[in-house]
Amino acid sequence: MRATGNYRCPIAPQTTGEQIAVMKCKTHQIHLVVLALLMCLPGVYSSKVLADAPMVACDLENFTVEAETTAEAQAVCKLVSDALPQLQDCHMPVKLPVKIIVSDEMRGVGPRCLGYYHCESSEIYVRSAEGMAQSIDPEGAYSQIETDVFFESIVVHELAHALFQQNACVSAVCGDNHEYVAHAMQMAWLPEDARAQIVQEYPQESPIDPMLLNGFIAAMAPERYAALVWQHFSLPENGCNFVQLLLIGETTLQFPPN
Ligand SMILES: [Zn+2]
Repeated sequence: MRATGNYRCPIAPQTTGEQIAVMKCKTHQIHLVVLALLMCLPGVYSSKVLADAPMVACDLENFTVEAETTAEAQAVCKLVSDALPQLQDCHMPVKLPVKIIVSDEMRGVGPRCLGYYHCESSEIYVRSAEGMAQSIDPEGAYSQIETDVFFESIVVHELAHALFQQNACVSAVCGDNHEYVAHAMQMAWLPEDARAQIVQEYPQESPIDPMLLNGFIAAMAPERYAALVWQHFSLPENGCNFVQLLLIGETTLQFPPN
């Protein structure tokens, strides 16, 4: 039986948001904090814009979804149910409740922000597929992906943040590790042709320098970062084994390390 983060190290407390996670990596570039605040982290407003949005408790234990319609919420429950095996296979089982809020618009974040995970409340905020169509850079590689498929991949990305947080050692929780795992799970969810489109824009010779896999590039050039992460993750020696090493704190992408 392989070791997991559960008994190898103390698990990160659930009061640590991505915002705080970034700050936890003390010397972790201040630029990332600034960029993240500009791009995606929530401001003082609640993102909830749907006054009477239906909330659905998924058949799946631990998940509730709020969306404009019950059918939309149920579709997200189904997506979560389909995506969980991929995350569990990468050593990230569900341990605590997660709420997902889907809306066309998200207040208090930049227009290019597609979703975010709020750790303190264990909530995922994500734009609907319709809302996402307005937010994707029309010049970027992501714009070539069918919007519904891309929406799914963003939900999986945020779900990976939630489950990384639930399973990682305290020392492992920082923005660089979080983003690597979230992007790897997002790319793994995409169909192969969509993934190939992104990767071919940013080919990188192996071995990929882990120094390139940092949150600063994730914030500045998310599509390039996604391509780099996938090329690193898909090497035979990496994959979910590398995710596990991040979870248990035996390696880190944080620079300089704690
Ligand atoms: Zn992310």
